[in-house]
Amino acid sequence: MHACGCSATIRLRMAAHIVVIGGGISGLSAAYDVNRLLPDAQVTVLERELRWGGKILSETVPLPDGGACLIEGGAESFVTRKPEVWDLVHELGIADQMRLAPNAANGTCVLDEGRIRRIPLDPVTFLTTGLLSPAGKARMLLEPLIAARRDAGDESLADFVDRRLGREARERFIGPVLGGIYNTDPEVQSLLTTAPVMRELEQHGSLVWGSAVRMWERRSAPRRPAFISFKHGTQALTDGLAAAFGGTLRAGVTAEALSRQGGRWQIATSEGASTLSADAVIFTTPANAAASLLAEVAPAAAALLRTIHHNHIGTLSLVYRDADLPRLNLSGLMIPRRERRPIDAITRFHAPNPRVPEGYTLLKVFFGGGDPRTAELDEPTLIERVGRELDALLAIKAQPVAWRVYRWHSAFPQAAVGHLDLVDDIEAALPAGLFVAGAAFRGIGVPDCIRQARAVAGRLAQPFLKR
Ligand SMILES: Cc1cc2nc3c(=O)[nH]c(=O)nc-3n(C[C@H](O)[C@H](O)[C@H](O)COP(=O)(O)OP(=O)(O)OC[C@H]3O[C@@H](n4cnc5c(N)ncnc54)[C@H](O)[C@@H]3O)c2cc1C
Repeated sequence: MHACGCSATIRLRMAAHIVVIGGGISGLSAAYDVNRLLPDAQVTVLERELRWGGKILSETVPLPDGGACLIEGGAESFVTRKPEVWDLVHELGIADQMRLAPNAANGTCVLDEGRIRRIPLDPVTFLTTGLLSPAGKARMLLEPLIAARRDAGDESLADFVDRRLGREARERFIGPVLGGIYNTDPEVQSLLTTAPVMRELEQHGSLVWGSAVRMWERRSAPRRPAFISFKHGTQALTDGLAAAFGGTLRAGVTAEALSRQGGRWQIATSEGASTLSADAVIFTTPANAAASLLAEVAPAAAALLRTIHHNHIGTLSLVYRDADLPRLNLSGLMIPRRERRPIDAITRFHAPNPRVPEGYTLLKVFFGGGDPRTAELDEPTLIERVGRELDALLAIKAQPVAWRVYRWHSAFPQAAVGHLDLVDDIEAALPAGLFVAGAAFRGIGVPDCIRQARAVAGRLAQPFLKR
């Protein structure tokens, strides 16, 4: 890695210059791969913030007794069913920093008309839960008799769940859980962008049978934990990429405008005099930021990019002394929008989770998805409002001993039904040499971001390899 604050780009032996805008997981993965595929090219990454990682942000927060708690501002853990994080970690040689992450679904509850109910993931809880009526349970059990949808058309997550499992299952827990994970409304959320595995599973006749077939097909594959994280935080992934990258990293530099001159892309930056000249540019920013940059050179693509809505969301992580808390018998609480509360979800971490020292509990509260006004509150008001919620929902009256707020303002993309067609149209409207990748496009999870970034790097490299 070479960090550079110089104002002009020095071109060596007329090597191609590739600029990547955005230094989150997508930008760093794309830059790393372009650098690997085109070792003679000069690759520069521009990142507006002074740190690398975007929505991957780990912070170690000191506690009053001298200990510390590891807080994740954004991503917590990565699913290995999608292999991209696992593969990259091994490629970067940082597998020793990985640790197993608990399956967040275990012990998760849902708020149902003010009552906290366990999500019925096992047969006994399913049969005994009051979350679903007998008719709702019977409807769920009919799922194997529902014909699979065979066409390639998109649908909302709500329509999919209504179709296969019934409306009650969707309203009572599946909608809140999946909508909560993606911080979106299941009625508009694109199934094919956010949960394509559901459509794949139903092709086997039923979701349960489809899952069993998948497990059988993978029986001879090497065993992996279902979820992984990192001993010192998920930022190990983006730090590892930045360290392995052989190009130029420029933090604290915002790309402000893009123009075309002399057959090359010119990128004006916040450094004023410093305009970068590039053969190709990869945009990995939220779609609204890419839209502004592309307005002059690709107005049609910019107009399409602007139609991708971004939510303001945030997390408030609060550390409590166990002795100050009532008994909490849950690992998480999903709060459906119909409950009309100012927060969206709570997740709980405590020992033996290595992030949290013995004697403490970490609660991570998600806000902004259901009530966008919460995302705008100043920090003291936010803490006071969340404190009232924790009292009302979990009888927590104590003050936290440490806390951190992270906000992603107008930066959490929403994939509506038909989103993948929209992304095809955006890509078709981009002039040669301009690319998009990242959470706003073909999947929001970190594995999806890496997959897209590496695919774009491969496409970008093709014409240069042929020269
Ligand atoms: C609270 C939360 C929890 C999550 N949990 C998980 C999880 O557990 N597992 C999982 O897989 N995923 C999770 N996600 C999703 C995942 O973290 C993100 O989708 C992913 O990290 C996005 O990466 P990205 O590089 O595409 O975008 P970003 O991380 O948003 O990076 C884009 C970067 O572009 C920069 N930028 C913007 N404009 C400019 C400009 N003009 N010039 C230069 N730089 C610019 C921004 O500063 C930013 O750093 C979570 C997300 C959030 C917010």
